[in-house]
Amino acid sequence: MDRQIYLDNAATTKMSRAAIDAMLPYFDKTFGNPSSLHTAGQRAAEALSGARSRVAVLLGCEPREITFTSGGSEADNQAIISAAAIGEKHGKKHIISTAFEHHAVLHTLEKLKKQGFEITLLDVGEHGLITPQQVSDAIRGDTCLVAIMYANNEIGTIQPIAEIGAVCREKGVIFHTDAVQAAGHIHIDVKQQNIDMLSLSAHKFHGPKGIGALYVRKGIPLTSVIEGGAQERGKRAGTENIPAIMGMAAAFEDACKSIDENAAKLTVLRDRLIDGISEIPHSILNGDREKRLPSNVNFCFEGIEGESLLLLLDDKGICASSGSACTSGSLDPSHVLLAIGRPHEVAHGSLRLSLSEETTDEEIDYTIKSVKETVEYLRSISPVWRDLASGKKEFVLK
Ligand SMILES: *Cc1c(COP(=O)(O)O)cnc(C)c1O
Repeated sequence: MDRQIYLDNAATTKMSRAAIDAMLPYFDKTFGNPSSLHTAGQRAAEALSGARSRVAVLLGCEPREITFTSGGSEADNQAIISAAAIGEKHGKKHIISTAFEHHAVLHTLEKLKKQGFEITLLDVGEHGLITPQQVSDAIRGDTCLVAIMYANNEIGTIQPIAEIGAVCREKGVIFHTDAVQAAGHIHIDVKQQNIDMLSLSAHKFHGPKGIGALYVRKGIPLTSVIEGGAQERGKRAGTENIPAIMGMAAAFEDACKSIDENAAKLTVLRDRLIDGISEIPHSILNGDREKRLPSNVNFCFEGIEGESLLLLLDDKGICASSGSACTSGSLDPSHVLLAIGRPHEVAHGSLRLSLSEETTDEEIDYTIKSVKETVEYLRSISPVWRDLASGKKEFVLK
């Protein structure tokens, strides 16, 4: 198989031509340092300021509310550390989040826990959704931050962000959302949706890697996580990555322009893929069927290992992902799948397929056929499956 069917767009996306073209002049023509006072520097500073305005317009905020970062992870870290610092100053050391956040959020929260913060992780239920009521019930007098992701990177579920934001605003608690999977794919308006802080990353919407942005509502002070120069209004030291910033602005504009059109097209492909894979016995869709990203399909199959499935699909030219990450040599099942209540043995047999605007009908047909064949093959050689099929062990997925 010499062709490649790329169905791992939740991990990263191919850069768009528009983004590449927007970057090129800033490597050699307009290469100045925006902090320099000479003309070359000021040209770069103008580009930077223009890009900031363009990103701000797309989020519905003011340019000065945007800080450029090295990506989604840094934006998440800085948002949470900043909110915690504000909380600490007022003796508020309680944070609310969910059990299935990205590790950039969860690991930062773990660090804060060691510094005496109390963390409440809301139960996301079997469908991977939380309710504004859950958030309202969990907020206490000493809560300084609610951090809930917009769309989950593994199972694609989309949270009721505006409603959660309204609850937080009413109770005077800072609300951060990791919108890395949502930005460029779902309409975002930080003012209408009552969002105080929001993280995004360019490489998830056909922009370059290593660049992202943090929106912070004016009046909320940011804590620097990188010390040094006075770039980004003193809140993020380091010479600005102008080519990447220009690429991000172009990719974000491009993506936002066709959100509805892309969503309509992807939803049809996604649903066909879900219907096709659902025909595999003892399989289950992960995440709510309706309230999910138009690009996301995630299944568990009983009696197989996700890693074997991935490797065999790769042999057939399909780039996919399993929910599980390889941590220091031991294969831990995905914390997201455990959070929605999948037992360990089932969580190990997961498959995530994330589509892009370039995905074709024919690729979907081929993928359905390949997944069916490969699951069947892996089960035919699996001792676990033999025990299940013979009735020696009971199926978890009926
Ligand atoms: C990819 C991703 C991140 C990390 O973004 P980087 O730019 O790769 O650091 C954070 N959160 C979510 C939900 C993501 O999907």
